[in-house]
Amino acid sequence: MKSVIENVIIIGSGPAGLTAAIYSARANLNPLMIEGEEIGGQLMTTTDVENYPGFAEAITGPELMTEVKKQAARFGTRFLPKNVTKVDFSSRPFKIWVGQDLYQTRAVIITTGASAKYLGLPSEKRLLGHGVSACATCDGGFFKNQDVAIIGGGDTAMEEAIFLTRFAKKVLVIHRRDEFRASKIMTDRVLKNPKIEVLWDTALVEVVGDKTVTAIKVENVKTHEKKEMPMNGVFIAIGHKPNTELFKGQLAMNEVGYLITNGRSTYTSVPGVFAAGDVQDNMYRQAITAAGTGCMAAMDCERFFEKEEN
Ligand code: NDP
Repeated sequence: MKSVIENVIIIGSGPAGLTAAIYSARANLNPLMIEGEEIGGQLMTTTDVENYPGFAEAITGPELMTEVKKQAARFGTRFLPKNVTKVDFSSRPFKIWVGQDLYQTRAVIITTGASAKYLGLPSEKRLLGHGVSACATCDGGFFKNQDVAIIGGGDTAMEEAIFLTRFAKKVLVIHRRDEFRASKIMTDRVLKNPKIEVLWDTALVEVVGDKTVTAIKVENVKTHEKKEMPMNGVFIAIGHKPNTELFKGQLAMNEVGYLITNGRSTYTSVPGVFAAGDVQDNMYRQAITAAGTGCMAAMDCERFFEKEEN
């Protein structure tokens, strides 16, 4: 066990965590960030980020995160590039384990983010990064004048299908039901786009290819009719899963595992534990909104200490 009791430990190192680090470091809270082994979060797998304010010319995701990390380090944030393995938030100081090492802290800011969901097909896993992707924004550019399929019927699938029409020759949206879950405006845009075709009531059953994707096998879920279609890329857009396994039974979560924060603040169900970024937001999921809530979490934490001390 470490003998010091930290002021604040930030778990996770994406835009939310790093922004929380900048703010809490500048507030003299001397934060410790336990970064996880996938340092930098989801932006590390993107190419150009064109919608983060402050960069008139696009910056890449990894470059952006490197800069933000330098900024957090400049104010004294300490970094530990390891995974948290267990937490105990039942009493204060809170306990956080990294393997055998136990850290104690007065407050915690959770910014563990969310990960893309996959269908669970062996062929999908085998060809991940070789024609199968869960991020059209990151990988769409590799499919110039080619045919791509996108799986899902939510807003993400619609947004990514439209984005992919910039590069691809044809975009096939494959959805397991006969209507989309997506908003009407996004649905209309997809249905009106001449480059996009929709396969309703259809499931992807296999991605075909040796070193790279060459075809897909699909099945109509009503008629059970199967067919194989030539295809160059497959984008999975069936939602995200928040990274909250560690906190089960300790913090209030919604039915799909997103941490519940209190109204317009970043307070979780345990006073002194705050959450920011995608781990508590399945709606906006942008780097800038994650950064915004990271700032809020640091300010909430600072005010929480002030209240305790007065
Ligand atoms: P959603 O959960 O909204 O949609 C997931 C889609 O994937 C659904 O159509 C679902 O089918 C399908 N799906 C889930 N699991 C499987 C599976 N195993 N096999 C086949 N299909 C599957 O996730 P999104 O990521 O699209 O959106 C998340 C949130 O973010 C939403 O609130 C959305 O509105 C929001 N968002 C908003 C945007 C915007 O406004 N610009 C852009 C992107 C996201 P089914 O419908 O049958 O359940």
